[in-house]
Amino acid sequence: MTLLRGLAAGPGWRSQAVHELAGLGINAEASFPLLRLMETIRQVAPEFQVLSPHAPLVSVDELNLMTMLRRAALRVAPEQRGDLGFSMPVALADLVALCGDVLRHSQVSLGTRPLLAATSDLGVQMETEDMQQITDARTMRPTTVVSNEELTYGIRRIRLAGPALAGLSDDPPAKWVKVFPNFGEPFTEKAKYSNPVGRVYTIRHFDSEATVLTIDVAIYGPGAVSSWLERCKPGDRCDVAGSRGGFEGISGSVDCAVFVGDETALPAIESILEELSGYIGARVFIETADERTVHEMARRAESVKWLRRRATAEMLTNEVAAWCSHNRNVFVWAAGEATRMRMLRRTLVSQLGIEAARVHTVGYWKEGAADHRDAAAG
Ligand SMILES: Cc1cc2nc3c(=O)[nH]c(=O)nc-3n(C[C@H](O)[C@H](O)[C@H](O)COP(=O)(O)OP(=O)(O)OC[C@H]3O[C@@H](n4cnc5c(N)ncnc54)[C@H](O)[C@@H]3O)c2cc1C
Repeated sequence: MTLLRGLAAGPGWRSQAVHELAGLGINAEASFPLLRLMETIRQVAPEFQVLSPHAPLVSVDELNLMTMLRRAALRVAPEQRGDLGFSMPVALADLVALCGDVLRHSQVSLGTRPLLAATSDLGVQMETEDMQQITDARTMRPTTVVSNEELTYGIRRIRLAGPALAGLSDDPPAKWVKVFPNFGEPFTEKAKYSNPVGRVYTIRHFDSEATVLTIDVAIYGPGAVSSWLERCKPGDRCDVAGSRGGFEGISGSVDCAVFVGDETALPAIESILEELSGYIGARVFIETADERTVHEMARRAESVKWLRRRATAEMLTNEVAAWCSHNRNVFVWAAGEATRMRMLRRTLVSQLGIEAARVHTVGYWKEGAADHRDAAAG
């Protein structure tokens, strides 16, 4: 997977990829379909989520691709192969089949990575650290609510404290945790959901000395966890798992960074802006359900445009695309409703031709879907 991500990373990777493929027993000629596969995916499916070559997790799209390649290599009948999460053009289907042949002839197997048993083996040191991070991220840390106040209309700032939070970090910015309320009484929602019920929130701030975690929660209606957080009071208890993810920085030289999001992305965008070095200009587009949410933010942004959320997704995309059409050497980071994020990515990459690796979009929630998971958030 690391290799496939590398193939997607840009022209500089070609020679390195050929070298690495040779190490797997795939000669330069046979490596062509693999190089072509990632290029074609970038062209025909710009919303396909490719994580950084060093990310310890895979995205759902990447997992689907690996499954497709494995099935092609094993010659599973096409009708039983499933799809990649998007309607696969013939050119891509043919390439996957061709890559399957290459992998089979070169006897490269795409099995599940075995769990690491020996931590003393220096050869697996790096992967063991990754595993440790994942284990830490799954540990439940009991906390107590210390405050719950309105930050601005529709957003509550909650502080959670407890010694079990020791070791958490808000570096890099936009790192996130999963919050599991202890529903108890009088919250009858508990009966409706299987336990534990948790949702993802960005670390807005972490005070490592006092072990106090600050999150900003969008209040919009009936969600199980946001409703609990809206009403929680000092002394209430919840567990926190994490931290994970975070802003990976801006790669390459760009003229401007563009940040796009809604109420759920505000904590991430504000944290990133606080960290962003002053040499780069930043534009911000925020879509909110209510104009009363508008508030003073982002000292380092050159401009912040607040937009009122409409029923359709086009307005946000059109606004951002209109600005980017005059400024194409940009880096875009966007988070919010999943369908809107896909539309934005497609428009920026396919229509405006902005390099796919410079457009980072994540679905933080999805209209009509509880507990939406977008693996790109990992
Ligand atoms: C990496 C990451 C970081 C995030 N950071 C934050 C953060 O800092 N602050 C924050 O508030 N949220 C954040 N979110 C989004 C949050 O996890 C989701 O909004 C979550 O679904 C809220 O859980 P819930 O129990 O309220 O609703 P769920 O039970 O998950 O969903 C119930 C219903 O509400 C809808 N819904 C969910 N969220 C919203 C919304 N915001 N507006 C309108 N309808 C919605 C769903 O479509 C569903 O129909 C983040 C998500 C990710 C992946």
